[in-house]
Amino acid sequence: MTSIRTRFAPAPTGYLHLGGARTALFSWLYAKHTNGKFILRIEDTDRERSKDEYTDAILKSMEWLGLDWDEGPFYQSERNDRYLEEIDKLLEAGDAYRCFCTVEELEQKRKDAQKRGEKPKYDGKCRDLNLAESKEPFVVRFKTPKTGATQFIDLIKGKISFDNSELDDLIIRRTNGSPTYNLTVVIDDSDMKMTHVIRGDDHINNTPRQIVMFKALGLEIPKFAHVPMIFGADQKKLSKRHGALSVTEYRDAGFLPNAVVNYLVRLGWSYGDQEIFSTDELIDKFDIVNVGKSAGVFNPEKMEWLNSHYIKNTDSINLASNVLPFIEELGYKVENKEWLATAIDTLKERAKTLKELAVQGEFYFKDDIDYDEKAAKKFLTEDVIKPFELLLESLKSLKSWDEEAIEAVFTKVLDDTGLKLGKVAQPVRVALTGGTVSPGIFEVIHVIGRERVIDRIKKAIEYVESG
Ligand code: GLU
Repeated sequence: MTSIRTRFAPAPTGYLHLGGARTALFSWLYAKHTNGKFILRIEDTDRERSKDEYTDAILKSMEWLGLDWDEGPFYQSERNDRYLEEIDKLLEAGDAYRCFCTVEELEQKRKDAQKRGEKPKYDGKCRDLNLAESKEPFVVRFKTPKTGATQFIDLIKGKISFDNSELDDLIIRRTNGSPTYNLTVVIDDSDMKMTHVIRGDDHINNTPRQIVMFKALGLEIPKFAHVPMIFGADQKKLSKRHGALSVTEYRDAGFLPNAVVNYLVRLGWSYGDQEIFSTDELIDKFDIVNVGKSAGVFNPEKMEWLNSHYIKNTDSINLASNVLPFIEELGYKVENKEWLATAIDTLKERAKTLKELAVQGEFYFKDDIDYDEKAAKKFLTEDVIKPFELLLESLKSLKSWDEEAIEAVFTKVLDDTGLKLGKVAQPVRVALTGGTVSPGIFEVIHVIGRERVIDRIKKAIEYVESG
């Protein structure tokens, strides 16, 4: 059996968005699942709209998502000669022809057709003239069969059929000599020995045009699987309006790559009602037959839910490297990753994103705590001086700096003062974190560390005393 080869073929005319990332993911998973190969091809023939910046961002996004490719990236811009070679073959065989119709002429014909209520279509004026090259500008058009139908079995959508009469004589070479998408994709998919073309269903209309060219060139036709679009909740094609961002924007907002992968895969593919999949599990279970026929609906809350799931369930020491950039973004430097992991341990239950986690843990990273005004007014009052001083004494001499020992110190202070835990813990929280919301107070004390805890409590006493 020939081994399966799939590809992702983005045009670098924008960043990698969720829809593209999902198509890439499905192609990648199918290759992995079948022990095949996944190829990356950059379709940069549109020199005006293609930008290196976008190519870089696409490659980075793929790497970040963990979608590694076995071959490529191949750049279409480097394969021009190869395309022209095949165009010449088509011309020679009479399967393509030079068309000298001017833009104005075509525009006029288009308008006339519209007036008559007809679908605008090239009228075939140059089709049978067998015109030779000359100084006049020309395009090359593919001679699409006029009769019959072109059919294919789409692995997701089922049987699809187009009447050839609906297909135009497509331009395959522009006046400036550059080849067009439908031609380049056919040659590449053939040269790169694609067995399965998995792509967005916005390309369904291109498929019969490509099939007729595969046939004319005598090339093997791959299997096709067109993945349904992603919609917003309003059933319209997903866009920024729905909060859908590019992959790099999700990275920068503090999403974990495995959460994004897990979210995307479920947007159109299912395995019973299982929601959480490890990558290995996906590779094991993914198959095109389980890709749904209808559009997936983007749900940002579910994506956040998955992200918090992955934050909670990733080892803090592994999360540390992912969290560091967000801490740096806030202007702090943390050098000790083991210590950072202990801080993350206390924060990860509540954070929906790594960014949120860094912000919620800011008091761990900064040197000077600013009090929330209301909190300080309410909790840092004269009557905390006594318990704070007792705490200071015991914490200074505490033998083992662990949560249990810290809790015992509190119990002792409560006993000695007759105060309730809340009366002490909340003021301590304000003294240590600046606010009234934080992880458990014993954990917080443990992570902040003896020296800094003592400094902060002293500072709070001074604050109270200075009125
Ligand atoms: N370059 C095309 C696009 O970005 C994809 C072509 C294909 O997958 O056949 O939409």
